[in-house]
Amino acid sequence: MVFKCGSCGSCMIYDFEKDDLVCPNCDSVGNPQIEYDNKDDFDICPICGGQLNLGQYGSARKCNYCDSYVVSDTRLGGDLKPSAIIPTTITKKEVFDLLTEKFSRYICLIPEVFSVNRLKEVIIEYVPYWVYNFNIKAAYAGVIKESVTTGNTTVTDTYSVTEAWDLGMEEIPVDASEKMPDMVMDELEPFNFSKKLEFKPEYLSGSESEITNHESDHYKEEACYKAADFAYEHMYRELSLTYPHAVNLSRNTVKNDTSLDIRTVSTDCYLLPVYRYSYTFKNGNIYDYYVNGQTKEIYGAAPISEKRLWTAIAATVTAFAGAAALISTILMLIGGAV
Ligand SMILES: [Zn+2]
Ligand SMILES: [Zn+2]
Repeated sequence: MVFKCGSCGSCMIYDFEKDDLVCPNCDSVGNPQIEYDNKDDFDICPICGGQLNLGQYGSARKCNYCDSYVVSDTRLGGDLKPSAIIPTTITKKEVFDLLTEKFSRYICLIPEVFSVNRLKEVIIEYVPYWVYNFNIKAAYAGVIKESVTTGNTTVTDTYSVTEAWDLGMEEIPVDASEKMPDMVMDELEPFNFSKKLEFKPEYLSGSESEITNHESDHYKEEACYKAADFAYEHMYRELSLTYPHAVNLSRNTVKNDTSLDIRTVSTDCYLLPVYRYSYTFKNGNIYDYYVNGQTKEIYGAAPISEKRLWTAIAATVTAFAGAAALISTILMLIGGAV
């Protein structure tokens, strides 16, 4: 579907601050005229008939021919509908400001990478995640040794310990998009789920998005692994409080002496906001940037011009014959990986 402005016919985009659709052309708010998917072929734009190229999982994207933002009501219907979305709280301009601020200390920065005239190439993408609610029955059975030294005397006690916990684990997230690199999402997490909104299709007008790439069972093992880590950490902290002088208690021993029974209570699909921006330098180097649309966490490396780097090094060699100055300058110049 496309949300057209009732006044001028332009495509409206969703503004989470105004909590409504707004028209970028005439500033009208709300009252959209909705054009729905073509039921014979939902991969064509309902406005101009151009091919959308949604691919296997795409659920929202901009039409390359008429610039309308198309939200696929076919793809987002039925079982594939996400239950919630975390709205972005930052703008594209703020994304560039954040990246410039982060990398501005590098002398060899390629300034045009973050120039304002490239703003239209910044994309806000809503990434599908499965979130799992688990009930975990954890049983610990191990031997804990406590050692207390008073003056010259050390007293060691050994306890045979069995403990059981019934743990509720809520909203354990797993990235359900294969397009978004796992390493990127690991760096950008966590997201604050308390800010989530019940999903409505109009929220995606102005963005790109995907439906979940597989059913929740496909990602369950990864979710269980995360939940187990939380459970072991919880038990380690509890046992450390009960046995503060333990000499053989560690996260590893707790893990080895514990059995877990993890049951899925429910699963939901959430959409999480990530800004994506890619710049191809004239020598062919590609710089990819990702920014968590909620927490502003950044993934990407400083865009360094090799020509500028060598010019700066040569200038440094000339100005300071001392090796120490050269080394510290090089370190400052090339330390761009984040
Ligand atoms: Zn308008
Ligand atoms: Zn179109």
